[in-house]
Amino acid sequence: MTISEVINKISSNFKVVNVENPKLDSQLIVGNVLKMDRAMLLTYPEKEISDDEYEKIMEMAKKRMLREPIQYIIGQCEFMGLDFYVNENTLIPRNDTEVLVEKAIEVIKSEKYLNGLDIGTGSGSIAVSVAKYSKIQMTAIDISEKAIEVAKKNAERNEVKIDFILSNLFENVEGKFDIILSNPPYIETDVIETLEPEVRAYEPKTALDGGKDGLIFYREIVEKCSKYINKGGSIIFEIGYNQGKQVASLLEDNFNFEKVEVLKDLAGLDRVVIGYKLC
Ligand code: GLN
Repeated sequence: MTISEVINKISSNFKVVNVENPKLDSQLIVGNVLKMDRAMLLTYPEKEISDDEYEKIMEMAKKRMLREPIQYIIGQCEFMGLDFYVNENTLIPRNDTEVLVEKAIEVIKSEKYLNGLDIGTGSGSIAVSVAKYSKIQMTAIDISEKAIEVAKKNAERNEVKIDFILSNLFENVEGKFDIILSNPPYIETDVIETLEPEVRAYEPKTALDGGKDGLIFYREIVEKCSKYINKGGSIIFEIGYNQGKQVASLLEDNFNFEKVEVLKDLAGLDRVVIGYKLC
């Protein structure tokens, strides 16, 4: 069988089970097995694949048919132009989170911040990309040992030095920071079962579940963080599309920031809240 034949075959299988990007995902699987990028696949559509390669491709395609996320199947995900390793122990980095990272980099540079804390780092996508593009010293914490392992791998892969601490929120954290960043679990418990199969059946629930109203981690972080944030420092949260007002109020009611702002993602939905410069 040729490259283009196998891509067409699995891509039409994917369509049947409503995979969102059937062609792209087929190319990613075939490319992963043949160690070819998409451009190469398109350049050599007539190349024959071996039986061994075909078997590996079909094994991965079967997983995608069951709606396992493509990123877990190929163990790879792009975020902020960087390459990340992912597995089922962490959420898959989302494009939406780039809004938080870009804002963080802007503020770190303008305020000349020196150190930062990423709470619930997961794959490390926030800590690694912020460290990479701003040169700030990041500390990254997570309650999951397996997530920390993934994040460490990503720091190595992207050649940044990060301090990792296994910690339930601030439990094992010492010192103060110029900036605190967090994309905590924020989905309302009852909503999780309504999400796409890729999310509800495969991504770690502990990384998604923000309790009954989705806000428990914001409350807990806000309640405890004053000990850990320097004067003049800032805090940036990723939030769900319907949480802007509540999370902004949490910051306004508990701190005296120069300003509290809600930022939107590319779809025009509230996605980030920043408490800018603690007075
Ligand atoms: N943005 C993710 C989703 O919609 C959730 C991320 C989170 O809970 N922190 O699936």
